[in-house]
Formats: sequence, structure tokens, C-alpha cells
Amino acid sequence: MPQISIVVPCFNESEVIETFHATLIQVLETTGKTWELCYVDDGSSDHTRAHLQELASADHRTRYTSFSRNFGKESAMLAGLRMSRGDAVILMDADLQHPPALIPRMLELHGHGYDQVVAQRDRAGEGIVRTRLSRAYYRLVRRFMDVEVIDGAGDFRLLSRRAVTALLSLPENNRFSKGLFSWIGFDSIGFTYENVQRAAGQSKWGGRRLLNYGIDGLLSFNSRPLRMAIHGGLWLFLSALFYALWIVVNVLVDGVETPGYATLITVIVALSGVQIATLGIIGEYVGRIYCESKRRPHYVIRETDASEASDASESG
Ligand code: UDP
Ligand code: MG
Repeated sequence: MPQISIVVPCFNESEVIETFHATLIQVLETTGKTWELCYVDDGSSDHTRAHLQELASADHRTRYTSFSRNFGKESAMLAGLRMSRGDAVILMDADLQHPPALIPRMLELHGHGYDQVVAQRDRAGEGIVRTRLSRAYYRLVRRFMDVEVIDGAGDFRLLSRRAVTALLSLPENNRFSKGLFSWIGFDSIGFTYENVQRAAGQSKWGGRRLLNYGIDGLLSFNSRPLRMAIHGGLWLFLSALFYALWIVVNVLVDGVETPGYATLITVIVALSGVQIATLGIIGEYVGRIYCESKRRPHYVIRETDASEASDASESG
């Protein structure tokens, strides 16, 4: 068994994968440990798969799994973790935004007994709007979620074998790793590094994808939004009661006033808004229950050279 496994999800990374591979191996050779690379091709439509095949056949320490279509980074990371056999597993992106040069530092901290070593990027070189939005989002997440999620602490991290085992024991279909990492617990330590721009190719995270990812994150960890909807509904109901009372008193004191058409419409529209939003939240949860209850596998494998990975093709 190797001492270190590197898990790399790749989606349309043919422009950068070779540089990444070379850089990574250079760094790994300096660590003096035994290692393996677990690449996961997340249904790329470019030549990523061919590149991986080539890399894997040139070096037995490089293995890969290829999905039948794009299943998303979360699924790719899961497949990679299932493939991995090392005592320590490092998750990283293929675009060199997670500098391989930080690996020795991570291993050193792992040597001090930490089960999770998290490399947090700062937000240097990122648009001001995106930075602001992310900050606000993480504040929101911290308020709503029972687990702690740190801004900038992404998927670039080292996990001990027992942390990986814990992660793999979580069966949910809708995986929000940032939350799962925190949920499993264990001692973790972080350090900050300067944000780097992607070496080549394009980011796969447009605004819409990020928004969906954000909603996933908020809803996947508890039912607090649902409870908030209930609270909001109750408060509205109470204020409506008071308002009705106030009208009655008014009528008793001043007699019948002019018909309050505007007020009526305002109240109806406001309440409908709340109702629709609440239904949306409930629907979101129901949808999740539906998805989970189908018990579909997280991904479908097209091909893999990692047959020795015991449960690489396992569903669940
Ligand atoms: N990725 C993936 N499946 C996807 C989208 C992305 O495996 O559906 C991989 C991608 O190849 C890269 C990593 O996830 O290795 C991070 O993606 P990207 O660089 O596009 O995200 P960003 O750095 O812009 O957040
Ligand atoms: Mg990137």
C-alpha cells in the first residue's frame, strides 16, 4: 500500500493535465514517500480520458477511472476516494490552482497527528463582486448549518485513512463535501496560501452552477430553513390577527371607513409570496427525499484501470 494517494477529479482538463502531472510527480519524488495517483475523468468531452489512459499505462502508480458522463465534482471526488489506498489521501484540482508545492507542508502537519490538513486559499485576484458574494454566503451558511464551513477552505486537503473511511461511510446521494468534511470531525488544522489563477482551460463554475451549489449546501445539512418557514408563517399569522383586531376596533370607534382595497391586496400578495417560498423549501426537501429514496449510485463507470480498488464500482 502506498503512503500517499492523490485524488484528482478532472473534467475537460486536457489542456493542463500533462503539466499538472509532471509538476505533481516532481513534488512527490521529493517527499521520499511511496505514492499513487488516482485520477477520475468526470465524463470529459475533450481528450482528458486519452491523456489519463496514457499516463496510467506509462506508470503503474498512476491509475484512473472514467465516468460514462459528467456526474459532477462531488461524485468524482467520491470515486477517487474509493479508489485510493494510501494512509493519507490528498484531494486536489487538476488546474494547478491547488499548488502541488504545498504537499510537503501538508504531510508535515499530518505527521503532527492531524487527520485533516486544509489548505485555505485567500481570495487574491478574484473579482470584488464574487468575493463579497462568497463572504455573505459563508456568513449565511454558518448561521444555518450545524456544521462549520470556512470560507476559502475548499477541497484541497489531506485526509487520514480513518477520515476517508468515515467519509465513505456516509451514504447520502446529495453530497456537499464542505459540510461532510466538517461533519466527520477529527482534529483538523488549516493554513492559508495565496490564490493562484487556473493554469489553462476554463473554470466549470459559472454563476448558475455556483448558485445551485450554494443552495445544495444550505439545504443538505439540516431542516432549519423549514423551521424558519414555520416561524415566519406563525409570526405573519399573529400580525394578521392583530391587524384584524385593529380594524374591528377602528370600525367600532369611527364607524365604517372607506374600503381598504389597497391594504387587502398588499396583504394577500405578501402572504402568497411567503406561501410560495415556503412551498418551495418544502418541495426542495421532498425532492431530496425522492432522490435519496431511489438509491441510485453516485456515478456510472465507463472504464477503469483500478480494478483492485475493492469498491470502485459499488453503488450507494
Ligand atoms: N471538476 C469535475 N467535474 C465537474 C466540474 C469540475 O471533476 O463537473 C473538476 C475540475 O476538473 C477541476 C476541479 O473540479 O479539477 C475544480 O474545477 P474548476 O477549476 O473548474 O473550479 P474553480 O477552480 O473555478 O472553482
Ligand atoms: Mg479551478
